[in-house]
Amino acid sequence: MNKYFLLIFLLSFSIVHAQISEKSLKKHISFLASDKMKGRQTGSKEVGMAATYIEKQFKKYGLTPMGDNGFRQSFEAKVKRVVVADSIRKAENIIGFLDNGAAYTIVIGAHYDHIGYGDLGNSKDSLNIGKIHNGADDNASGTAGLLELAKHYATNKTREPFNLLFIAFCAEELGLIGSKYFVENPTVPLDKIHWMLNMDMIGRYNPDNGVAVIGFGTSSYFPEIFKGITPDIKFYTGKDGNGGSDQTSFYKKNIPVLFFHTGGHPDYHKTGDDTHKIDFTALKSILELEINVIDKSMSVPKMDFIWTN
Ligand SMILES: [Zn+2]
Repeated sequence: MNKYFLLIFLLSFSIVHAQISEKSLKKHISFLASDKMKGRQTGSKEVGMAATYIEKQFKKYGLTPMGDNGFRQSFEAKVKRVVVADSIRKAENIIGFLDNGAAYTIVIGAHYDHIGYGDLGNSKDSLNIGKIHNGADDNASGTAGLLELAKHYATNKTREPFNLLFIAFCAEELGLIGSKYFVENPTVPLDKIHWMLNMDMIGRYNPDNGVAVIGFGTSSYFPEIFKGITPDIKFYTGKDGNGGSDQTSFYKKNIPVLFFHTGGHPDYHKTGDDTHKIDFTALKSILELEINVIDKSMSVPKMDFIWTN
């Protein structure tokens, strides 16, 4: 093989097998959870910078804008836990669509906001309220995962038999407000959604427990889909569709959901939730598991839905 053909061969290989990149995950999380983002509080200038960053990536991957103003879906979020003068905050979900011309769509979501200086009643760090809470695990990790999955599906040169809708939710930390707004104002019809995958805190893999896959009971197809999948990491399943993150909004609309989560830790909603504590190798493996699950779910014509409680 001469040099020219070797180059073509390597290029085509890298295009067809778009891979999850630890380097990209690190880049996204380092940016989103840096001190200059000031903890991405809903309504802040900095959460706006995070929104612009996500939008820029979606554009780069060639996704179709699916908000109501380009990639952006604007709404107002009310601060309820504490009394503040400016209790109404402007917020935006960032929404990109991979249009494969299919009848049904798989939704992939993660929230990108965090708790800023911890002064809206949601810090667990009573001694450090007023200091920046970076939220590397919560939820720069899920946001980075969302971007890598979007890149994977947008650049894999495969036309899947389902469309994919990627949503970065805002105002999750104020009470799942962004995802609630989306399901009340959906930009694809809810009855055309095959199922929804949510990522919230997937950066602190604990090898003793494995990653939690919650919502396993919300469709009769999930057990079949997971059969034969042998990931590099351990996982365990929980049946419940209700839970503390954005998949709950979809579950309440009778949509099957899976919620990936590496569990609580001592830095949860504290100032120590920083980038250097993220397990990037495990994060990559979790995303590869998700790709397996998403791909296998495409052999089901339309997922059914089961109430779990
Ligand atoms: Zn979160």
